Amino acid sequence: MGKKKKQNEKGPGIWFMTGKCLKYFLRFAWTERKSVFFAYVLLFMGTAISDLKYLLLPKLLVDEIVAVKAGAPAEEHLKIIVVYVALTVGGEFLSRIFNNIGNHYINYCNVFFERKMTERLCTKSMTMDFQYTEDPKVLDQQQKAKEGASWYSGGVTGILSCFYQIIYNIVLMCTVITIIAIYCPLLIPVQIIGMAIVCYLNVKNQKIEVGTFMKLAKFNRCFGYFFWDIPSYQNGKDTRLYDASEMLTERGAEYAGHMIDTWHDQALAVRKNSFKANFVNALRDGISYFYIGYRAIKKFITIGDFTMCVTAAARLYRSLMGIGGNIQDMTKKCGYAYQFLVYMDYPDALRKGKDHVEEKEHVIEFQHVSFKYPRSEDYVLKDVNIKINSGEHLSIVGLNGAGKTTFIKLLCRLYDVTDGCIKVDGKDIREYREDEYRRLFSVVFQDFKLFAFSLRENVEMGDTLRKRDDAYLEETLKLSGMYEDAQNLKKGLDTVLFKGFDEDGTDLSGGQQQKTAISRALYKNAPVVILDEPTAALDPLAEYEIYRKFDNLVGGRSAIYISHRLSSCRFCDRIAVFADKTVKEYGTHEELMKIKDGVYAEMFNAQAQYYVDATA
Ligand code: ADP
Repeated sequence: MGKKKKQNEKGPGIWFMTGKCLKYFLRFAWTERKSVFFAYVLLFMGTAISDLKYLLLPKLLVDEIVAVKAGAPAEEHLKIIVVYVALTVGGEFLSRIFNNIGNHYINYCNVFFERKMTERLCTKSMTMDFQYTEDPKVLDQQQKAKEGASWYSGGVTGILSCFYQIIYNIVLMCTVITIIAIYCPLLIPVQIIGMAIVCYLNVKNQKIEVGTFMKLAKFNRCFGYFFWDIPSYQNGKDTRLYDASEMLTERGAEYAGHMIDTWHDQALAVRKNSFKANFVNALRDGISYFYIGYRAIKKFITIGDFTMCVTAAARLYRSLMGIGGNIQDMTKKCGYAYQFLVYMDYPDALRKGKDHVEEKEHVIEFQHVSFKYPRSEDYVLKDVNIKINSGEHLSIVGLNGAGKTTFIKLLCRLYDVTDGCIKVDGKDIREYREDEYRRLFSVVFQDFKLFAFSLRENVEMGDTLRKRDDAYLEETLKLSGMYEDAQNLKKGLDTVLFKGFDEDGTDLSGGQQQKTAISRALYKNAPVVILDEPTAALDPLAEYEIYRKFDNLVGGRSAIYISHRLSSCRFCDRIAVFADKTVKEYGTHEELMKIKDGVYAEMFNAQAQYYVDATA
């Protein structure tokens, strides 16, 4: 039990990771671009021609020259030499052409595969359960996946090239072992022992490097945050007005310091092993040359054989070391790239239901719902009970931190309840298919996000399945009050938001952004509209317009409306007051005002001192 737990803590073994990655990336390459395998065949032929030339030609030439020196007719042998030279030139030419085409195409595929992997990574990040987006463990894993899958591992072609090299070196090794076994058999154990020691030392270095990579993931993410995210122009106002640049740079430098120390520790540890490996290599070379020379002097082999054996010994070592190195390199690369697989296979945090959501009027019911955020000990909501009938407009009020937004997050199933259950049409929402269930809600969160696309695209994103429908788009923009603003933009609806990607891009005001987000929600045309503080950034006139048109805005759909402005609750059918982690009061405005020492009445009266009721 203890041993098993220890193994689990250590994570999967290197061979397991290598096997998984090889399978994944070979399949990846096969599905995305099969022709890359043809490029490796070309590379194989090019390198094989070149290696054969270096192995055989010197032996053949030397044997011809020695024969002439020993008295054989020079002219006859000269003709043979000319044939050898012609073969060499032709072989060299072919070899270079094959290698050039192969390498060129593999480089091209490298860029192509990297783009495809980034696409997969982005899709995963955008579709994984929401609660993971604020889980530091998952964010670290995402960072490891990004770095591991691209520059640390060399990407798909980095791993494929290692695999190809292993196959090539095995073929080369078999060829030279055959030659050496015939001419200098004792050379084989000398090379193998030398290689085994060097491999052992390299494996030690590899473990040190992988350990460094794991440590660096967090530092890299924090470093990136301080030096890339924070200086971005969206943060420009805050960093200047709070004069925060010095403090931020200092914090960033702290992480940079950690990174440099980690690299330094790695360099020291690796250097010791590299020195030992160099010494073993020098010793192995000395023994090999002595042995081959000895066999030639004793006339066990010819001078031509001598040159071939010297080349074969070098090639044997190169192929053996190549195989060892390639395996190490591949396991190392797979160790990094495996982080990509871990991220891609991150298990769902929420149970996925299979039931379809029926098309009918929907009744929402919270039954004894309690909730605490993941990795938090404290309940944010306790025993919440509420029923929202189809077409009902519910207003939610409460102090900051009362749990109003959390209530919405639970309803949208961004999180699952800790206790109790939420039912829609009498069925636990966990039983529904996630995609169909989410289609029930048009939500504008307080911290909604617009994207660096055109205004039109930002709104149309609300329903990507809908065919282009300008009349409908304009209608939703008119409802939120954004239509008039859009007419004043340089390119109207086609104006790109934000300035980062388009010279003619525009930065909308907070109110315009909010109106655009409301348009997007309306464009989705879902049966339940949820507006979380939709008027926070609006000027009083625009806010008044939203209240005035609220019925128009949501039509006959159910609506949940969170607001701090209590006067705005009046146009809702019911009001739920969140306090003490639960629904403390529930009823119409008139009913709640009658509750003696009621939270709502107290809040309403306090606000009434400052505001003239805009809806009156
Ligand atoms: P409200 O919308 O009423 O202002 P929230 O629902 O946003 O309140 O927050 C309720 C409580 O939950 C607060 O104490 C807040 O700090 C906490 N909270 C909100 N989001 C998270 C989160 N992702 N992780 C942990 N606690 C959170």
